[in-house]
Amino acid sequence: MLWLFALLITIWGLFYYKTPIRWATAVLGMLLGAYILAFGLTPCSISLWSGLLLFAIPANIPVIRQQLFSRWIFKLMKRALPVMSQTEREALEAGNTWWDAELFSGNPDWKVLLDLPASRLSEEEQAFIDGPVETLCAMLNDWDITHNRKDLPPEVWSYIKQQKFCGMIIPKEYGGLAFSETAHSEIVMKIASRSTTAAVTVMVPNSLGPAKLLLNYGTEQQKNHYLPRLVTGAEIPAFALTGPQAGSDAGAMPDTGIVCYNQDKVLGIRLNWEKRYITLGPVSTVLGLAFKLYDPDHLIGDKENIGITVALIPTNTSGISIGKRHNPLDSAFQNGPNWGKDVFIPMDWIIGGVDQVGNGWKMLMQSLTTGRAVSLPALSVGAAKFTCRNTGAYARIRQQFNLPIGEFEGIEEPLARMAGETYILDAARKVTNAALDNGEKPAVISAILKYELTERMRRIVNDGMDIQGGSGICMGPKNYLGRLYQVIPVSITVEGANILTRTMMIFGQGAIRCHPYIQKEMAALQQDDLQQFDDVLFQHIGFFMHNLAASFWLGLTNARFHKVPGDKNTRRYYRHISRLSVGFALFADYALLTLGGSLKRKERLSGLFADVLSNLYLCSCVLKHNQDQGCPEDDASLLQWACQHSIYQAQQSLRAVFWRLPLRPLAWVLRSLIFPLGKPYSPPGDQLIHKTASLLLTDTSVRDRLTHGIYINSNADDATGRIEVAFKAVLAAAPIEAKIRLAQKQKQLSKGDPFKKLAEALTLGIITQDEAELFATAEQARLAAITVDDFSAEELMGGGFKAI
Ligand SMILES: Cc1cc2nc3c(=O)[nH]c(=O)nc-3n(C[C@H](O)[C@H](O)[C@H](O)COP(=O)(O)OP(=O)(O)OC[C@H]3O[C@@H](n4cnc5c(N)ncnc54)[C@H](O)[C@@H]3O)c2cc1C
Repeated sequence: MLWLFALLITIWGLFYYKTPIRWATAVLGMLLGAYILAFGLTPCSISLWSGLLLFAIPANIPVIRQQLFSRWIFKLMKRALPVMSQTEREALEAGNTWWDAELFSGNPDWKVLLDLPASRLSEEEQAFIDGPVETLCAMLNDWDITHNRKDLPPEVWSYIKQQKFCGMIIPKEYGGLAFSETAHSEIVMKIASRSTTAAVTVMVPNSLGPAKLLLNYGTEQQKNHYLPRLVTGAEIPAFALTGPQAGSDAGAMPDTGIVCYNQDKVLGIRLNWEKRYITLGPVSTVLGLAFKLYDPDHLIGDKENIGITVALIPTNTSGISIGKRHNPLDSAFQNGPNWGKDVFIPMDWIIGGVDQVGNGWKMLMQSLTTGRAVSLPALSVGAAKFTCRNTGAYARIRQQFNLPIGEFEGIEEPLARMAGETYILDAARKVTNAALDNGEKPAVISAILKYELTERMRRIVNDGMDIQGGSGICMGPKNYLGRLYQVIPVSITVEGANILTRTMMIFGQGAIRCHPYIQKEMAALQQDDLQQFDDVLFQHIGFFMHNLAASFWLGLTNARFHKVPGDKNTRRYYRHISRLSVGFALFADYALLTLGGSLKRKERLSGLFADVLSNLYLCSCVLKHNQDQGCPEDDASLLQWACQHSIYQAQQSLRAVFWRLPLRPLAWVLRSLIFPLGKPYSPPGDQLIHKTASLLLTDTSVRDRLTHGIYINSNADDATGRIEVAFKAVLAAAPIEAKIRLAQKQKQLSKGDPFKKLAEALTLGIITQDEAELFATAEQARLAAITVDDFSAEELMGGGFKAI
């Protein structure tokens, strides 16, 4: 028994320490040699030797193992290889991998993440945020914009153009602002905390649109012509990809371009298209149009079906119709359909000229890789911080049953969720921006950011609406949350609708791009290279076996002996991530091995894998963010809530993956290796929930840090300004309120109308004159903060409600 145990431990150790096959054979040989020395040649030792030889000869001699083993796997996998369209391949190959690949490896190298320089603003960027962005926010009145005007006021349009808001990503040589992704994100976040209409208007020209495509692929002539004009707003761009027949599956667009000569013998393209949902379309002067190009007469080459191509087309070109406007959930950003009938354009209107025909999809996917990680995540964090700050304050101002509603356990729960989630969102935003500014182009992480940040923002705003009660429901200039709530599905749907992003893209792309061996194996299969395949396959088997050994050890010890960075507050979370990452890698490999190409259609399973990866990524960002901020002591509750929540979610999703894996007995074995002692992690407990919720109810530096970067004002006539004013006044008057409460308890004072009891308290000398004034000011501010709008029947029927 002891020898058997020694053999098992040795095999486990060889896998755990990733011992090369040659060395592993030598170690096993020595162990068996020792056994023979101890017991002589017995039937057992002879069979062990035979077993070792059977393993060692093919394992150490590639030619033999290729014929005996790899050849069969090669054939099997070739058959199981999913068929991939050109657009799928191009989408898959866009961008690069970064921390996502580390998580996929099962053994993340924390140095990769922690050595990344923290996101930082230059002096010029900070000055722009404190100057023009602050001014723009002060000019915005969301109710006026969305209800009265259904557009931005002319002076806001002019200011946006004059201050070059549309040229944030354009280099200085073209007159642009040349800001970093960090600055871009901070600017969108701040504007979004004031008006989503303005944020979307500024966001689109700087996101996936003509400027980005020109910068990456345009000819010198195109850049010199368009970029300076886009900076000043002389050209308003729109990007037209989606049509009635092609939404999520945009590659299936029926819009065509035929290479031909016009009547003046100019070589060009005759276009026919129908697009819809195009942001800025109704006011655009230049359209970035995606269409499928055909060359039936072989005027530019041998190929007839050239593929998706993108051209820049002035909207006043003959044959173009810019339709009316859509009404996207009562938000007032410009959005509408457009179509073209036999529109002729010269070849040099193609972005990048004739050299880039057919490369449109690749161009779009490459541009989306980074764009998706910046704009919508920034908008989401703006909305999250805005809700935390204002609804948190409202929960302190608003009283029911003689207590601020935020102090009830029922409300504490959503408050804690809002604060903790906002901390996670901001961490992910900042760390990912830092990675982008450092030159990374992580496609899978972009998809995670787009999906997770918009989705979690939806939950935060929903929680906010529950806490606001009727004041979130009754629309009007005083309601700061209702319109935001209304418009959430826009961010959920655009730039890759969320369900598709979660269930198809994150794990679908991750499994191929981030896995250390799958892409290499696929390449070897495609090139019919058995030798290369055999080499990678054996590395892959070693990887799988190492993960088996590691997950059991980490599961048994809860990774207590695993070397990770961090301090007494954070080290355990680093360990938990490392542990779950091995489990994730193991289950992912198992799913790929057993399901092969059919995994592509298992969207429920793929969605759960995406949830595990996303939570591990977000939790890593929280730890990095905390380090970048200098590990402030008073952020401890936020940090703990965020880590415990993400790790618990990752664990639950990983366990849910198990129920969807095939070959149940084997899946059970894997699960008992990953979770040998049951479920190790729990969600945040009651005390932590209480502490985290309290952060939004008090005026502290933690609350300021959590909501840093949004627009804040103290104008008592403003929708959110009155909340700031009331919050400060109510907190200042809290000790006086406590005195009055005590007097009421001791039956010295009556209950009821606050102003009446105030007069009584003053007369009885319970409070001083100064205290009475402070209390009265707080009560007036409180009343102003809880007031909602009402309208006459004419106003309701005819619109035209007055702006606040
Ligand atoms: C306000 C607004 C602004 C926009 N701006 C622009 C713009 O400027 N330019 C532009 O080109 N486009 C724009 N769009 C289009 C946007 O990108 C599309 O709406 C989006 O791609 C989804 O397409 P769809 O609305 O046709 O939904 P559909 O494709 O019909 O999808 C409906 C639902 O099915 C899900 N789904 C689809 N396929 C799958 C699958 N395989 N697996 C799982 N779920 C799936 C989706 O996730 C979604 O939930 C805009 C849209 C809106 C609403």
